[in-house]
Formats: sequence, structure tokens, C-alpha cells
Amino acid sequence: MKMNFLQKYQKEFAEYDRLDHDFIDDMKIWDQLNKWENPSREDVRLVLKKAEQCVRLEPEETAILIQNKDETTIQEMYELAQQLKKEVYGDRIVFFAPLYISDECANNCVYCGFRRSNSAIHRKTLSMDEIEQEVRIMIEEGQKRTVLVYGESPTTDIDFICETVKKVYSVKTEHGEIRRANINCAPLSVEELQKLKAVGIGTFQVFQETYHHQTYREVHPKGTIKGHYRWRLYCMDRAQQAGVDDNGIGVLFGLYDWRFEVMGLLYHTIHLEETFNGVGPHTISIPRITPATGTPYSQNPKYAVSDSDFKKLVAVLRLSVPYTGLICTARESEEVRKEVIPLGITQIDGGTRIGVGGYAKSQKANQLPDKEQFTIGDSRTLDDVIKEICDMDYIPSFCTACYRSGRTGEHFMKVAKSRFVHNYCLPNAILTFKEYLLDYASEETRLRGEEVLKQHLEQFKDKPVYNTIVRNLQRIELGERDLRL
Ligand code: SAM
Ligand code: SF4
Repeated sequence: MKMNFLQKYQKEFAEYDRLDHDFIDDMKIWDQLNKWENPSREDVRLVLKKAEQCVRLEPEETAILIQNKDETTIQEMYELAQQLKKEVYGDRIVFFAPLYISDECANNCVYCGFRRSNSAIHRKTLSMDEIEQEVRIMIEEGQKRTVLVYGESPTTDIDFICETVKKVYSVKTEHGEIRRANINCAPLSVEELQKLKAVGIGTFQVFQETYHHQTYREVHPKGTIKGHYRWRLYCMDRAQQAGVDDNGIGVLFGLYDWRFEVMGLLYHTIHLEETFNGVGPHTISIPRITPATGTPYSQNPKYAVSDSDFKKLVAVLRLSVPYTGLICTARESEEVRKEVIPLGITQIDGGTRIGVGGYAKSQKANQLPDKEQFTIGDSRTLDDVIKEICDMDYIPSFCTACYRSGRTGEHFMKVAKSRFVHNYCLPNAILTFKEYLLDYASEETRLRGEEVLKQHLEQFKDKPVYNTIVRNLQRIELGERDLRL
């Protein structure tokens, strides 16, 4: 008998319903924030002293940073956040681009252009041929890492998702291939996640949207799968159980008070670390709501986060979870991205199109309003974004080495926490950036990029790895590709 789609996880829902509490205690979070309503400079500096050690902060310490309103110590927070980012991640920025596979969705999230009741959206799920076409264009623009995005619908069930991942990896062009496909889809069951693991995904991302229980109920109507808060909250626990140990969490800022949400992200991280042998999320995403076609809620979100609070929350997260990557997408304008990148962002997208079929149909974002989930703030080409990152003296990275060498989960955390990320990540950034410069860059970007590359290579001059990097750069110039440490 055909099962009603909305009843799909009914048994699991009932198990979560039986728990008398979950790991987000709304009252406790507000008590902690209220207790530190006005922290003194000394309180803040004490927390910064601890943060200097590059350790994860405790909730009350994070609450102190969140509530700090003193300009002098806020500046000190920014300075330390920049320093920690440099220490843990080096001067590299990892690039990716999303690939929207489907906008069909059975849920009705009030903020989203893809929600079921939105008749302004033209529904479409890419065929395998169309996926191939999109991927070819992405590769030809220089992309190596993607995140595949789906609504939640019977048309995009787990077997279909797995087929799309395999399809993406199968496309090869003269210049290469997509080497890492991350996934952003609805929460899955353990069995479904095992299937995803088998097809070799990179990061599995699901954003809680809001950690605040009541707000969650208000924006995700009852009777939809997404309406079940705990099914989503415990999604990364199921991922870990299924062996998917590279996970990304996130919040959609604008649904509820940002201060509460940052605490929620920290509690989620602590829960995962405590439950899974120190393995917290690999990345945290921090999207802010942007306007979506036919979606009044998105035009004027109740808790819209100002640019200055956004900047502060990036720094607070960098200081609170120094070993977790932070993703800032092209939802943000180029100006905002430029401001927050130095404070702790490790990954950005460039050349992004979010319409289903968007790479084939448009040269830039925001040109297909009836196919796009929301509007993009930074619609520049990948080459333009790369050039700017070089002008900021960062080195763009297309590295995919860690997950392909099995450095994920517990293994990754060990590597990251011992601060040796530099030894893998920076050399690999140099190598993958060299490929970009040779295969895709405009003349202007190539000239600037070569300077940046040289400058970053210099720091390895006295290290044993220097000769290996130089040798590999020569091999790349001679035509080899995909060399990594
Ligand atoms: N449908 C799946 C789900 O909801 O889990 C996959 C993700 S959805 C296609 C990607 C993310 O976009 C959502 O998790 C949400 O955080 C974000 N999003 C939805 N509406 C948005 C809007 N108006 N502005 C910015 N981001 C939005
Ligand atoms: Fe569907 Fe995801 Fe949009 Fe909600 S956020 S309506 S689940 S695509």
C-alpha cells in the first residue's frame, strides 16, 4: 500500500515525542542571556583570555560576548576573532557553489519561496541530463565543490538524491570535475543517511532555522514533516549513527532573536561533541532571510538582524567555536561579505545561481524570480569574487582533500585541533588555486592571483613541505591536475 508522504516518519516522530525534554532549554538560554545583560569590561576580557587558548567556550561565556555593548571590548573581540581565524584556518577562503536540483516541496515554511502554497513559483525537478548540463557549466566556470539543494517531496526521495549525487560525480570535462558534492536537504532517517554515505557525499547540511520552540511552531505549520522540531533537531545525531560524520548546522537569522539563536548553535555543538566523542559540526551556516517571490514574510522579517549585529555574531561564533568552519553565502551583499570574512568566515560561494536550472538559463543570479528560492545579495561572477579575495590578500581554495583522504569526523577534529590544518589546507589551497588560475581565470585575476600565490608560498620557504609544493606546482603547469597532500 502506498504510504502517505506526510506520514513517512510517523514512528520516529512518536519516539521523539516521548522524550520529556531535548537539549535546547529556552528558559535556561534566556536566563543566561539575562544574567549577563550588561557585562563589565573585566567580564568580557576574562572570556577573551580563555578564548585566546582556542578552546570552545561555555554557554555563559558566549552569553557575555553576545551581550557586550561596550565599543572598546567589542573591538577587542573583533581583533581576537581575526587572530583565531588566522591561527586555525590560515589566510585561505574555501569556495563552493550551490546546485539547486528541485524546488518541489511538501512543506510550507512561511519564509521560503519554495513553500507548497506559493503559486508564484514554477515547479521543476532537474532530469539527469539537465543536471549534467548544469554541472558542465559549473565546471567550465571553475567550480570544484558544490552543495546540492532540494525541497522535501516524494519526487526527490532518497534514491533520487543518491542518483543525483552519482550523476554529479560522473560528469568530467576537459578541465576536470566536481570533486566534492555536499548535500542540503530535509532531515533523513538513519537508513536513508546510510544510503547517502554510500554514494560519497561531502558535508551533510541541515539548518534548524530557529532553535526557539515556539517560533519554530509558528513558522513551520503543523501537519507538515518540517513542523516536527525534534525530528530536525536530532538529525545530526542520526547522521553520526549512520556514519555520516561531516555535518553542517545553521540558523536562518531573522526568525527569532539572534542572541538566542547563537546560544542554540552553541548548545547544538556541545550536544554533538558530548554525544559523539568530541565531534561537533564541521560547519555552521549563518543565512539571513532575504526577500523571496510571493513570500510576504520574507520581505519584512520580525527579527531582522542589522549589519552591525551580524558582524558581531560572526565574531562571537568564531570565538566560541574556533574549530568549526563558518559559511557566509551570497545571500549577503559584497560589502557585508567583505566586512565579515576577516572576522571568521572560512567558506563562501561565488558565481552562484539558485534557480532550478539556473546555470544553463542565466549568466547571473536574480534573473529567474519564478525559479529562485530567495534573492541573492552578491551576484558577481566567480572570477570577480576570486579577484576580490586576492585583493584582500587571502588565498582562494578549491581543496577537497580532507574528505577524499578520510580526514573527517573524529580524524578531522584531531587534525584541526592540533593546529596542523595549515600543513594540509594551505598547501592544497595553493595547488588548487594554481589550477584555477591556469584553467579559468581572466587575465586580470590571473596576474593578481599569481602574486598572491607567490606571497603565500613564501611562508613555507623554511618548511620541509616547501619542495613538495613547488614540485607539484610545476607538475600542474605541465598539465597534471588534482594533486593534493
Ligand atoms: N528543503 C530543505 C530544508 O528545508 O531543510 C533544504 C534546504 S532549503 C532549500 C535551504 C535553506 O534555505 C533553508 O534551510 C533555509 O535556511 C534557507 N532559506 C529558506 N528561505 C529563505 C529566505 N527567504 N532567505 C534566505 N534563506 C532562506
Ligand atoms: Fe521546503 Fe526547505 Fe523551503 Fe521549507 S525551507 S519550504 S522545507 S524548500
